[in-house]
Amino acid sequence: MPPIINEDLCTRCGMCAAICPMHLFKHEKGQVPVVAYPEECWHCNACVLDCPARAVELRLPLNYMVLHVDADTLHD
Ligand code: SF4
Ligand code: SF4
Repeated sequence: MPPIINEDLCTRCGMCAAICPMHLFKHEKGQVPVVAYPEECWHCNACVLDCPARAVELRLPLNYMVLHVDADTLHD
């Protein structure tokens, strides 16, 4: 599932559009970015991690979730 932007939280900064390696977002200055090519999403999670407002939600495909390891569990 492609990312979903919470318009109430989004500050319209454009970071998600700038950081996406696939250039999936279209962003007009002062507007909430639009996911223009949702089917191309790699689910890399960069837009979620780099959004300063925590406004991006990304639901990972099931096979990604099965392989997911929380990095915090790898530390002592
Ligand atoms: S990075 Fe977050 S706050 Fe900035 S435009 Fe994208 S969704 Fe909105
Ligand atoms: S998860 Fe990665 S590829 Fe998908 S929209 Fe976000 S930054 Fe782009």
